[in-house]
Amino acid sequence: MHFKELAEYFEKLEETSSRLSLIDILSDLFKHTKADEVDKIIYLLQGRIAPFFAPIEIGMADKTVAQSIGEAFGLSKEEVLKDYSKKGDLGLVAYKLSKEKRKKGKKADLSVAEVFEKLSAIAHTGGEGSVEKKITALRELLEHMDAISAKHLVRIPLGNTRLGIGDPTVLDGLALCCLGDRTKRKLLEKAYNETSDLGLMGKTLMHGGLKAVEKLTVTVGRPIRSELCERLPNPEKVFEKMTSEKGTKEIKGVHATPKYDGFRVQIHKDGQKVSMFSRNLEDMTHMFPELIEGTLKQVKAKTAILDTEALAYQPESEEFLPFQETTKRRRKHNIEEVAKTLPLRAFVFDMLYVNGKSLIDKPLLERIEAIKKYVATDDTLIPAPGKVLRKPEELQLLLDDSISKGLEGVVVKRIDSLYEAGGRNFNWVKLKRHSAGELHDTIDCVILGYIFGKGKRTAFGAGALLVGVYDKERDEFVTVSKIGTGLTDEEWQSIKTLTKGLTVNHKPARVNSKIEPSVWVKPEIVIEILADEITRSPNHTAGMVVEDGKVIESGYALRFPRLITFRDKDKRPEDATTVKELIEMYKSQGKK
Ligand code: ATP
Repeated sequence: MHFKELAEYFEKLEETSSRLSLIDILSDLFKHTKADEVDKIIYLLQGRIAPFFAPIEIGMADKTVAQSIGEAFGLSKEEVLKDYSKKGDLGLVAYKLSKEKRKKGKKADLSVAEVFEKLSAIAHTGGEGSVEKKITALRELLEHMDAISAKHLVRIPLGNTRLGIGDPTVLDGLALCCLGDRTKRKLLEKAYNETSDLGLMGKTLMHGGLKAVEKLTVTVGRPIRSELCERLPNPEKVFEKMTSEKGTKEIKGVHATPKYDGFRVQIHKDGQKVSMFSRNLEDMTHMFPELIEGTLKQVKAKTAILDTEALAYQPESEEFLPFQETTKRRRKHNIEEVAKTLPLRAFVFDMLYVNGKSLIDKPLLERIEAIKKYVATDDTLIPAPGKVLRKPEELQLLLDDSISKGLEGVVVKRIDSLYEAGGRNFNWVKLKRHSAGELHDTIDCVILGYIFGKGKRTAFGAGALLVGVYDKERDEFVTVSKIGTGLTDEEWQSIKTLTKGLTVNHKPARVNSKIEPSVWVKPEIVIEILADEITRSPNHTAGMVVEDGKVIESGYALRFPRLITFRDKDKRPEDATTVKELIEMYKSQGKK
């Protein structure tokens, strides 16, 4: 396919505000795509040249991209940046300049593969003079492109394609194109959850059909999408749910471990090579040298994948530190230095792969046995202390004990459960101090827009935020609240800067809202909210059921919501609280 054609599809995807038409456009794009190029197209659609987990970045920021644009169209970098500050999008600047000033006679027929290769070469350019080389390479691409292509090309190095397409929508598009029906996405999900690589999925599906996709499975070096927890209010409910369901009557106990409040690290060992991934699949290997060392020293297997929670540790006082300290380790600079003052310890709570074999289809207790067998005792990797408990009273004691030690609570797991990659269900349940009764757990919401301020806040620009949660089934963001409390004056003033480059002039395609904010914001920023209660509301679309344009069931909304934190980048919008969770929280309100 020519890059020009792909850019036309990008254009259509950008313009639509309906998710169903996103799927139709994607499916049509895939129909016109060859099996050998579909992986590249999928990565480009997401502003990448590799899957999310691969630590490959094009490594060009606003200023260097502006320099390339300037050189391609005969302007200075400063002139380009000036226009950029007006338009807020270098794509639009490149479009305009390409229309007005592109040199005649230069061909504009690069293929997707050629552009992809060149972008990969830019990503791999290093050493002395690399900045200039990157600028030149991007300039050459721009010179051989029409205006629409230039617009979409320059957004790729900036990681901002502005298309707003989530992974499930790409899967829907693939299902519609290759399996004839978008609801067949379900058939693709297992492989996706176990490989986390949409490009690989697309390529495998086009080459070998569904049979080949079903054979895709866990591999060392490719992160597995994390299994997550549901919430329940108290130990009795946990036992009720986990031990009495159909088919598991004979199981009398549950497995419980303390809930550590650090960050999740999936550790992969492949011989002498160790890689690590965050809960949202980012490569974090270079950040934690002590965990690499610990893994090489303690894991007695050639290949292995461990699921762990890493916490900062204070060697002098021999204490585990709270999340605010641990999070200081998520940094790009001074790594070695901080690793010495705040070394991490990783509590290993699951083992997903060992010596060439996946363990995810083995029951929990077998996987825990594998930890004992393959992780040697030492300081860095510590098997999470877990117990099989037979009665709710025992669970209550463990919960009290964990809380008295300053931990968050406990995580309870079904002892016969398999590892469900990407799943959040009652196989894993978190119990926290305040789970019982009112709503004390926070909710992760996504900013969908803001409403201009009134009175004192007029000057700040924003006076309230429109926020939503994630509807996983429909891959949509649905509104749950307007928030006007919990932000300082400075934070209100910062909303404009925070959302710069994310504001759009129409409702984003994956947003479902009855409320029209003053400014729409692409669903990217996750914030943590506390509320007094979840109530039913005809104004919010979270959980709302609509048939033939008529509201059959009200949505859900937050009462007295207030902002707790902007969760700096540890969650993707799709990791926000889901509608299903919100409804579960609504149902468990007030139950003791
Ligand atoms: P929260 O915001 O309440 O911490 P979350 O939304 O980040 O939760 P949950 O699914 O609610 O994620 O809780 C699961 C998280 O708890 C895991 O992702 C992991 O990081 C952490 N965790 C801590 N200890 C354990 C454990 N023993 N077993 C599993 N997960 C654990």
